[in-house]
Amino acid sequence: MAIIYRCHHCHRLVGRLEQPYLEEEQLGLDQLTFEERRELIKHTDNGDIEIKTICEFCQDALDRNPFYHELDTFIQ
Ligand SMILES: [Zn+2]
Repeated sequence: MAIIYRCHHCHRLVGRLEQPYLEEEQLGLDQLTFEERRELIKHTDNGDIEIKTICEFCQDALDRNPFYHELDTFIQ
């Protein structure tokens, strides 16, 4: 089982944690509402957990161009 962090703007792989087993509390995911979890966390077919995040490149672009916050698909 792996935890995969993927940028949801450009789909770049941001990080990957190999874990035999992990409580969601250890990821801080229990802080999220049910809706947020459903939006941000995806269980893949092979049992991995994929978490939407933002990579440093997109974060940098957003910092310089706040307007892009309105355009979820700007870079896809
Ligand atoms: Zn990105």
